[in-house]
Amino acid sequence: MKEMYKQFGISKKVLAFGEEVAGELKERFAGIDETAEYNQLKVLHAMQMCRVSEACLGTTTGYGYNDIGRDTLERVYAETFHTEAALVRPLIACGTHALAVALFGNLRPGDELLSISGRPYDTLEEVIGIRPSRGSLAEYGVTYSEVALLPDGSFDLDGIAAALNPKTRLVAIQRSKGYSSRRTLSVAEIGRAIAFVHERRPDICIMVDNCYGEFVERIEPSDVGADLIVGSLIKNPGGGLAPVGGYIAGKKEYVENASFRMTCPGLGAEVGPSLGVNPALYQGFFLAPTVTASALKGAIFAANVYERLGFAVLPDGQEERHDIIEAVTLGSPEGIAAFCRGIQKAAPVDAFVTPEPWDMPGYDDKVIMAAGAFVSGSSIELSADGPIREPYTVYFQGGLTWPSAKLGILLSLQEMVDAGLASV
Ligand SMILES: *Cc1c(COP(=O)(O)O)cnc(C)c1O
Repeated sequence: MKEMYKQFGISKKVLAFGEEVAGELKERFAGIDETAEYNQLKVLHAMQMCRVSEACLGTTTGYGYNDIGRDTLERVYAETFHTEAALVRPLIACGTHALAVALFGNLRPGDELLSISGRPYDTLEEVIGIRPSRGSLAEYGVTYSEVALLPDGSFDLDGIAAALNPKTRLVAIQRSKGYSSRRTLSVAEIGRAIAFVHERRPDICIMVDNCYGEFVERIEPSDVGADLIVGSLIKNPGGGLAPVGGYIAGKKEYVENASFRMTCPGLGAEVGPSLGVNPALYQGFFLAPTVTASALKGAIFAANVYERLGFAVLPDGQEERHDIIEAVTLGSPEGIAAFCRGIQKAAPVDAFVTPEPWDMPGYDDKVIMAAGAFVSGSSIELSADGPIREPYTVYFQGGLTWPSAKLGILLSLQEMVDAGLASV
């Protein structure tokens, strides 16, 4: 084993340190495997209930009318997440697009969108118009307000009660922290906030941005009252195999509203060819529970490695997990660069390139991204990224397999040690 790691340039000291940390995580990992087992049965049962057949693995082109694979897959998602309906489409380009489709489909001029988990994910700022942008909800006369989370990261119920007003039509909750330094919300906690809003206003649509959260717990926000859950297929639910796509699952009325935005009024979910991706979307969803477990193990390993070396990590090494992201604050641009170099060196694709910060569409600061993925930009695959801004935090996620995630963390540490930024 030592020889194998040596081939990758891992020193004896770094390896010994890593093995010590990994050794202490065995019990924790057994718990993760149990969650994966539960969720595997959930997905498999849904596939059987929906009578997934060989015909579902076929494809359509053009209008895509009566695409049995597409329609059945949408029922599989709905069955798994316990919702009335779902859209699962390669036509949805990414998570931001899925969220925008859900928002535009369910908001009308004069309505107000209320975010109760503070500032939403960076790319949504332009969708909403928090940062002025062409075609935003703001341009269509949809107003926006937000209630920040309390300093301890919990929902500000008094603030939420005060912010609800007759115009409030849709309440948004973001489960994962995204590029911020708050904690990730648990499904149970999200459920209590949903109940609080629905007690006051049962007519409001509550949408949860579920990105990076799928299959981390045994329940999803749709099990605790969310009207819509939305996510990306190049994160957890795509299982690393989906080449593109997003999903929107929830109440039939709200999913249909979204469908008329996804294509156009009148056509909705009836059109949209699957273009050959059905097998990957099915198989990816089938693998998603165990792939998510691998990514979780990587995140917990990273937390424990860097915590022990004195870096601020979020969540900390012991905390219960609600998403697959690990934030490690490295304190300098050099630290972020070294960490990302290590992750890149563990990739199956493009391991020989060096990540550099650049201006990315939808983001305000320069962002550095390490990813050597089979699916471009996939962040269920081993990846690390971070905006180049104080306090220089890198967000690490993914790993289709636990051993590859482990290698990535060890290589990141080796780069840090070699640059004199950490010592073991
Ligand atoms: C990834 C992510 C999104 C959407 O991102 P895309 O890159 O457009 O897929 C939205 N919200 C959160 C919290 C995310 O992590």
